[in-house]
Amino acid sequence: MTERQVSRCDVLVIGGGAAGVAAAVELAGAGLSVELAEQRAALGGAYHRQPAGRASKVHARGRRQWSRLVDALERNGVAPRLRHVFLGVDSNGLAMLDDRAGSRVVAVRPRALVIAVGAVERVLPRPGWQLPGIMTAGGLQMILKEGGSPPPGDILIAGNGPLTVALASDLARLGRPPVALVEAGDPFARPAAAMRLASHPGLAVEAAGHLAHVLAGRVPWLRGTRLTAIEPRDGRLAATLRDRRGNARTIAADIVALHDGIRPNDFGLPAASGDEPVVIRAGDCREALGIRAAVADGRHAARQVIARLAPGRPARVDGTVARQRGAQSILGDLFRPVDGADPLAALPDETVLCRCEGRTAGELRAMLAEGDLSPREIRLNGRFGMGLCQGRFCADNVLHLVAASRPGGPVEPALRLGRDRWPARPVSIAALAADDEPRGS
Ligand SMILES: Cc1cc2nc3c(=O)[nH]c(=O)nc-3n(C[C@H](O)[C@H](O)[C@H](O)COP(=O)(O)OP(=O)(O)OC[C@H]3O[C@@H](n4cnc5c(N)ncnc54)[C@H](O)[C@@H]3O)c2cc1C
Repeated sequence: MTERQVSRCDVLVIGGGAAGVAAAVELAGAGLSVELAEQRAALGGAYHRQPAGRASKVHARGRRQWSRLVDALERNGVAPRLRHVFLGVDSNGLAMLDDRAGSRVVAVRPRALVIAVGAVERVLPRPGWQLPGIMTAGGLQMILKEGGSPPPGDILIAGNGPLTVALASDLARLGRPPVALVEAGDPFARPAAAMRLASHPGLAVEAAGHLAHVLAGRVPWLRGTRLTAIEPRDGRLAATLRDRRGNARTIAADIVALHDGIRPNDFGLPAASGDEPVVIRAGDCREALGIRAAVADGRHAARQVIARLAPGRPARVDGTVARQRGAQSILGDLFRPVDGADPLAALPDETVLCRCEGRTAGELRAMLAEGDLSPREIRLNGRFGMGLCQGRFCADNVLHLVAASRPGGPVEPALRLGRDRWPARPVSIAALAADDEPRGS
């Protein structure tokens, strides 16, 4: 890549969700030149995902906040680069973007990068979770937000955490309540945590609204229950559930939506840096604290950048992020699984761990039985985390099993399965080798 082909700006913001857009607005408002790159064809991120057609009931939440952010972006003259996937920063400090519409890789030399690439869903593996008809609850929520209606058939929601309740509420509002909502925790059995929620009135009102829709839709909410296996039966899916007393039952559905929380999407990102290019993470990819924290965190990251690039302007801190950390901790207590057991320890050997490569728990256990392997060996020899998702969905589960196999050995956070160098996403050789002009221009 020659210097002629490199564009320059003060700050490159990656990710057009709430945090990235809030950061871009703050930075541009301070007079810095800002580029905003978003991999999708529209801004919005996970929470403000835009409808493909007419706005649906589901999409109405938070619309005013989003309109204000997008208007401010326009007013400050930031024209986002859509369908531009951030690949990473090379050894010369050049940020590489895969321009999917132009089929080429473009380079930007920023003085600072704000990375706001959101969160990924956690889904625990269960026997049969790779079958057709099984998706993540977040994936189904995106379908509702973009398309306004769910796919046909009976829907079962299972897993852990408040997002499953939000999804059941959305489906009920659309007249398609799920056949059941299966929850490993039992918020009704945690009155102390429920009381603490009162100190976050916005969240409490939102939770009460979701609960009202779930009740009005007569959704069976099976708390303290885990979905332990899924199998195909008579052209549908049969889900085996086990309650806190150990009783088993089966529920049939056409679609099963799984969800076990969210975690920062920190795969393949450059490390935070105070030297140019300054690198700062913002929003859910720094710490998954939900939509209320994301805007404040984006602004805070922008102020940190401004303080670095324009010394003399100190980064003002507001208390929103700390407050939302408190709110997430209350939600964590409220939804803490009832049985406290490690759901991965008893996985049958045939359970698929890595859905991209079809690698199973038994294959991992066999590798671990051969000796002490490094995460790199597990990745390269076992092909865990080597598929298209690059470990986004399986790395935590694989590492959990590795850590569990080593009594007294390294604990999970010290292990990394993925690589922390670019490209963060697969990119075609043709796009890497393409010249300056977009294809077809
Ligand atoms: C599946 C899911 C469902 C959620 N549901 C709720 C909910 O119901 N209620 C609630 O309060 N919170 C919910 N959250 C959390 C909430 O969405 C977030 O807190 C908020 O959207 C975070 O904003 P953000 O800007 O940090 O990330 P996001 O809104 O996720 O935005 C990140 C953006 O970065 C883009 N991006 C990612 N990688 C790249 C790349 N390599 N190159 C370029 N762009 C990239 C993405 O396309 C996305 O637009 C949910 C989160 C997830 C993951």
